[in-house]
Amino acid sequence: MASFPRTGEIVAEVKAILERLGVSPDCLSGPDAARTPLTGEVVAHVGAQWGAFGLSPADLGPDPVEAAIGRAHAAFLHWRSVPAPRRGELVRLLGEELRAAKADLAALVTLEAGKIASEGAGEVQEMIDICDFATGLSRQLHGLTIATERPDHRMMETWHPMGVVGVISAFNFPVAVWSWNAALALVCGNAVVWKPSEKTPLTALAVDAIFARAAARFGDAPAGIATLVLGGREAGEALVDDPRVGVVSATGSTAMGRAVAPRIARRFGRAILELGGNNAAIVCPSADLDLTLRAVAFAAMGTAGQRCTSLRRLFVHESVYDALMPRLHRAYGSVPVGDPREAGTLVGPLIDEDAYTAMQSALEDARAAGGIVTGGARLGAEDALDAYYVRPALVEMPLQADCVAAETFAPILYVMRYAALDEAIALQNAVPQGLASSIFTTDLREAERFLSSTGSDCGIANVNIGPSGAEIGGAFGGEKETGGGREAGSDSWKAYMRRATNTINYGSRLPLAQGVTFEV
Ligand code: NAD
Repeated sequence: MASFPRTGEIVAEVKAILERLGVSPDCLSGPDAARTPLTGEVVAHVGAQWGAFGLSPADLGPDPVEAAIGRAHAAFLHWRSVPAPRRGELVRLLGEELRAAKADLAALVTLEAGKIASEGAGEVQEMIDICDFATGLSRQLHGLTIATERPDHRMMETWHPMGVVGVISAFNFPVAVWSWNAALALVCGNAVVWKPSEKTPLTALAVDAIFARAAARFGDAPAGIATLVLGGREAGEALVDDPRVGVVSATGSTAMGRAVAPRIARRFGRAILELGGNNAAIVCPSADLDLTLRAVAFAAMGTAGQRCTSLRRLFVHESVYDALMPRLHRAYGSVPVGDPREAGTLVGPLIDEDAYTAMQSALEDARAAGGIVTGGARLGAEDALDAYYVRPALVEMPLQADCVAAETFAPILYVMRYAALDEAIALQNAVPQGLASSIFTTDLREAERFLSSTGSDCGIANVNIGPSGAEIGGAFGGEKETGGGREAGSDSWKAYMRRATNTINYGSRLPLAQGVTFEV
């Protein structure tokens, strides 16, 4: 069994990593406490200082968000004229710096967000992958050439940067979300202002220092091209409301999205919303149960259930329910919970007490709705008083009650039986969120039905893998209350650019479209 860290042992580790990553001591003093979920203790302080590439707190003055946006906008006016493949070079260098810093940044993700070591490393790898992707993309920001009805004319589309891209991110992917947005936004010719979660300022400062090294090697990147502003909701609101911020990419809860979306719409800004999920999997009669068990265990318990794509609802066909459930119970009872730095640990801590309270309250609601709850108890409280480690909870539900239809950001898996695939698909889709989904089957008809227009209504639909753990090559995001945004691969870059349709007349006549005549 994994052990639990002791209060007092993390502070020095954090300090040493921040030093190695080159975070300026100027950024590490101030009134705001940075905590580790491993023990709950304060490990550093940050404040009204702003980690800001090429800018000092003094440059940013008394209204730092306003100043950061102003500097970013000035940087954009220069950056938009730099050829895109040259902009790609900055992102390539960022990828190199991230490779060099991978071990330390991953360890800091573990200490600040509580991810187990391999998931911390995986998050930094994702940053490297998107840098590689965006570097190649910098030579592929293509528009179309379109057939025109007019003689001696040519019609085409061109893509131009939007301006300043504001990135608001959540605690659970404290560094990768910035990179998905920033790597694309930068090669597309935008400047970036980042407001990370107030729960993870240290990893953000570390990324800012890493970016500064890439920019220094690049040579002539304008100051303010990628700026970090630390702060809470108000700092996010300032980004949301500023008309110079052409795109706001906001990742977090649906409640946050509900607050920011109308404000962005009011000024006709563009929003990329990546909000809450309530992800499901369907286990069919023909499923490979060994594979299903492994996939379900990772998707539901990995990251202590704190991924937007975590598996939260499992619909199991009645013919395999009794074969799967005892094995799932054994996995839940034995999964090693504890210090995420230890090699054998698979489940680290919840982010804070609020997360624990929300989990317990959801379990109470599940019991009241007839659910049979196994697990969910707090562990290690005697070793780490302010930390919240829990045994993941498996809840067998008679029906999809209200508590099942809500996202609780904790390791709770609700399991329900079904008899017909149509019924399971309907139940899967009968929640407000629409992020990620899976089917476990070896029946081609069932798999294709699930992926068809009458199947899953989510932005991510998988066959024989769990709903979590996307690769950057595909577009990432979900429908309904998940917000509709897409980030990372495929053609997600288009969200960071504006499209212009151009018609060029290379003749001497002026034929009008649709045969209209207008002679003067
Ligand atoms: P949160 O909504 O509490 O905070 C997210 C960010 O939004 C923070 O930076 C916060 O300061 C900011 N914020 C909050 N209210 C704001 C407002 N009114 N205006 C401007 N900014 C505001 O979310 P969290 O607890 O950090 O993260 C967990 C949530 O994020 C879960 O719901 C999870 O599903 C979701 N999430 C979604 C994705 C995705 O890609 N769909 C990825 C990661 C996390």
